[in-house]
Amino acid sequence: DGEIIHCIGCGAKVQTNDKQALGYTPKSALEKGLASGEVYCQRCFRLRHYNEIAPVSLSDDDFLKLLTSISDTDSLIVYVVDIFDVNGSMIPGLHRFVGDNPVLLVGNKLDVLPVSLKKNKVKDWLRQRANAAGIRPIDVDLISAKTNQDVDHLLDQIEKYRKGKDVYVVGVTNVGKSTLINSVVKQSTGIQELITTSRFPGTTLDRIDIPLKDGKHLVDTPGIIQPEQMAHHLVGKELNLVTPQKRIKPKEYQLNPEQTLFFGGVARFDYRAGDRKYGFTVYAENNLYIHRTKLSNADGFYTKHVGHLLTPPSQEHVADFPALEAHEFKTTQKSDLVIEGLGWITVPSGVSIVGWAPKGVAVLLRPAMI
Ligand code: GDP
Repeated sequence: DGEIIHCIGCGAKVQTNDKQALGYTPKSALEKGLASGEVYCQRCFRLRHYNEIAPVSLSDDDFLKLLTSISDTDSLIVYVVDIFDVNGSMIPGLHRFVGDNPVLLVGNKLDVLPVSLKKNKVKDWLRQRANAAGIRPIDVDLISAKTNQDVDHLLDQIEKYRKGKDVYVVGVTNVGKSTLINSVVKQSTGIQELITTSRFPGTTLDRIDIPLKDGKHLVDTPGIIQPEQMAHHLVGKELNLVTPQKRIKPKEYQLNPEQTLFFGGVARFDYRAGDRKYGFTVYAENNLYIHRTKLSNADGFYTKHVGHLLTPPSQEHVADFPALEAHEFKTTQKSDLVIEGLGWITVPSGVSIVGWAPKGVAVLLRPAMI
């Protein structure tokens, strides 16, 4: 009926006519998407379901052009990441496209962090991860786009660092970039009508320009899909059972060696070797079902119960859900075993452990943050 629909993956205008052009979506898929409230163009749908990240590595890809067009500008780049999924927040190749432009790194979803966690430790962790990806942020800010926590402060920081320049807000999907932009738009009262949609030079991708006081703009860029996210393996309600929704309440477990914890059916933790009755603390969504069992039974238990007792994934999605992959570690200090998109488990020094997550989802060890 003439209404313009945008792909929630890349922001392209959805169209059903030209298979080769950006935003193409088969009619049937569009109808399904509209019914579920999530419309993806075919390109993003494929990326999402078949883990094809290829489109951004192609030289003539619109997204590459978009990043290049940003590197051609003299601007401040605001890079939004999810504190709980730093790996899944990485924009492939961003460091090459930033050019000499300063990057302000924004860690979102502060509202779910446990109270005992010091903000400075989280900032250090984010900075380290950015550095490892070749990005040297001028500053790191923590916010909650959902509750508006410290969004004011972020706007002050943007004002301080942009030095009269335009601002480009970048981030992959699911990190909360849209929530942040909406919050910014609301705070700048009366600005709603002023939002303009225009194209990035040389691309068919739309940009949203939010005017700033001095005639410069804050530009919202389309997000791209980063397939290495837990979020891409889950749908709707399942996702809410895994992604922390409210402030995390840590859970303590006294474990003996050769014991396993299942996190629904999406992740698993094995305590292989170490002292008896050691304390392990789980930081994950409060409503996620955690099941303790013997390591020797764990494989069989998973096969038998995934999709039923061990859920998400729900029964109808078990067939599509990737197998869990093992990541082994030995600790030499009190550490956090991080399962990206899920949370972490604080483990003592001197233990052998294994973290399991769907193939592609990062599992890593860091010095304990609490
Ligand atoms: P985008 O794809 O980056 O634009 O992400 P969205 O703004 O659509 O947010 C993705 C999901 O994260 C949604 O379910 C949001 O409700 C949730 N979300 C966004 N910001 C926050 C936040 O600050 N805290 C929490 N707990 N959830 C958030």
